[in-house]
Amino acid sequence: MITRAIKICFRLAKEKGWTKTYWAFDIHGTILKPTFQKGVISTEFYPNAKEVMQLLAKDKSIVKILYTCSYPHEIEEYITYFAEHDIHFDYVNSNADVTDGGYGYYHDKFYFNVLMDDKAGFDGETDWGEILKLLKTI
Ligand SMILES: [Mg+2]
Repeated sequence: MITRAIKICFRLAKEKGWTKTYWAFDIHGTILKPTFQKGVISTEFYPNAKEVMQLLAKDKSIVKILYTCSYPHEIEEYITYFAEHDIHFDYVNSNADVTDGGYGYYHDKFYFNVLMDDKAGFDGETDWGEILKLLKTI
């Protein structure tokens, strides 16, 4: 359940005094419903995905990382499409804020606190609604 990861992230941020947390977002099967057609970008949001991403966009303490296997020219199209919906990302497939340090070596696997990816158990149909409920309680 993604809300568990988000709650842990918020709790750790509070306990440790983190000023920023890092959230990674997959596109297909997570934010947008896949078209399964090459060269056709997805445009249909899962329920509540747009609302949650717009809320998160306003929170500058949450660094948003696009985590996708889309081709570079598709990534450009997605960034434009998301921006048209007031959804913005700080990084793509990387996190320049956290590199080497006390925590580890982040050149191959970038640092994140929350991962939203259908390949990692995220359910686009239901999880956005759960996140929305959680964010409204904070
Ligand atoms: Mg996916």
